[in-house]
Amino acid sequence: MASSLPTIFYGPILHTLNHHTLQILPRALLAVAGGRIAWLIENVLPSDSGDTIRSAAASKGWHVARLHALKDGEFIIPGFIDTHTHAPQFPNLGRGQDYELLGWLHHITFPTESRFKDLEYARRTYESVVRRTLDCGTTTCCYYATLHEEATNILADVVHKLGQRAFVGKCNMDRESPDHYCEPSAQVSIEATQGTIQHIRGLKPAIPGMNLVHPILTPRFAISCTPELLGSLGELARVDRTLAIQTHISENPSEVDFVRTLFPDCRTYAHVYDAYGLLRENTVLAHGCHLDSDLLDAGADEEAISESEIELILSRGAGLSHCPTSNLNLRSGVARVGEWLDRGLKVSLGTDVSGGYSPSMLDAVRHASFCSKLVAMEHARKENSTLPVANGKPAPLGNRQLPLETLLFLATLGGAEVCNLASEVGNLVPGKSFDALVVSLRPETRNPNVWVEGDELQRSEESLQILLEKFLLCGDDRNIRAVYVAGRLAGGADASI
Ligand SMILES: [Zn+2]
Repeated sequence: MASSLPTIFYGPILHTLNHHTLQILPRALLAVAGGRIAWLIENVLPSDSGDTIRSAAASKGWHVARLHALKDGEFIIPGFIDTHTHAPQFPNLGRGQDYELLGWLHHITFPTESRFKDLEYARRTYESVVRRTLDCGTTTCCYYATLHEEATNILADVVHKLGQRAFVGKCNMDRESPDHYCEPSAQVSIEATQGTIQHIRGLKPAIPGMNLVHPILTPRFAISCTPELLGSLGELARVDRTLAIQTHISENPSEVDFVRTLFPDCRTYAHVYDAYGLLRENTVLAHGCHLDSDLLDAGADEEAISESEIELILSRGAGLSHCPTSNLNLRSGVARVGEWLDRGLKVSLGTDVSGGYSPSMLDAVRHASFCSKLVAMEHARKENSTLPVANGKPAPLGNRQLPLETLLFLATLGGAEVCNLASEVGNLVPGKSFDALVVSLRPETRNPNVWVEGDELQRSEESLQILLEKFLLCGDDRNIRAVYVAGRLAGGADASI
């Protein structure tokens, strides 16, 4: 789509307004100009659509616009926001599932990441990675690169060229890593980080004023960073509050124990990051499976809960990236996502390649559903009660399976909140950037899992909700026909035709 010519979509739109509200607009008119949603008219009958388009276009002074009328079985949703993945680990997809986290890092991950000092290998791999995530419908992505400055800059260049919205971070790691893959000092790590920040901020946006690629501080996790390095990163963050931060937290019990021994003066894992000024409104924390696990074990009193990790994260405004595929694959644990949402935390989804074996957010959605069912079953077993059913809206989500609207929220608007980008992306309201997917469940997509026909193609709210559920649980990239980022076609099955 050329950004200079407005485009008007006519058809069903499904998006969330919060974690318990799904809005379904069966016959919406949505106009995109300059990469943004110019206007949205919620319910327009086909017989009225011509007049409505003409008057709405005239109100903006448009004489010419493209019209894209969706067919039966097609609908528009916001683009997926993957808040945690490792671009250099794509070559390892499907490997290492016999390990838990720390063994997996040393035997599977670090050897592969060290290859990215070869810049040709980096360029080749990253081109493939970014095309793949775009075709999977990921319009915004939080990427970890490796510890190499130049290879990280290549990843940012590729993201920029292919038109994805992303955060790109050079990993900081100056200890507890193999000799061949460890930075020699905190100072070297910081200088390389500053080089990457400068490089990314020098990229010229395709649409003036719309920067899609952002730098992000990326201390790999507390174990791999000396206190000196964490302190220097905290200082970079302090002088520039626009710098986003990403790291891992409480993924695996052995990791949590190790952090305790490395930082004996910090009461919890979250307090380590807070002590160095790295916990704030633009911090993305991956995993969190074992946050406050000591409190859960001990049956904590109110005072202990008020000083808990979750309360600390909440008070700092940081967000959590739930990575269920990875958490199940590496036997890390099951995050208590429903409870986090009930307590007001910002929560999103991450694929965590290659701890997670799929780059698709659709798999993250499915496994988030499974994780919440595990939480619900465990709760029911302990309480000796029947399984709660997700039918009361908006009932608390703790100890229940997550309903459809919450799953879509986590993959879209929840991700925008965690990235501190909710005023820009996450759903399809006027003024936001048009980051969206055109989804088709029509037979010509050649995915028999989601074929629909007859009454299911009616444009009613009920039938569209069924289509959304079928897509989230059984769809794949064959059903993602077009991927728009800031109004530009950047991927999808139709983009390569
Ligand atoms: Zn990770």
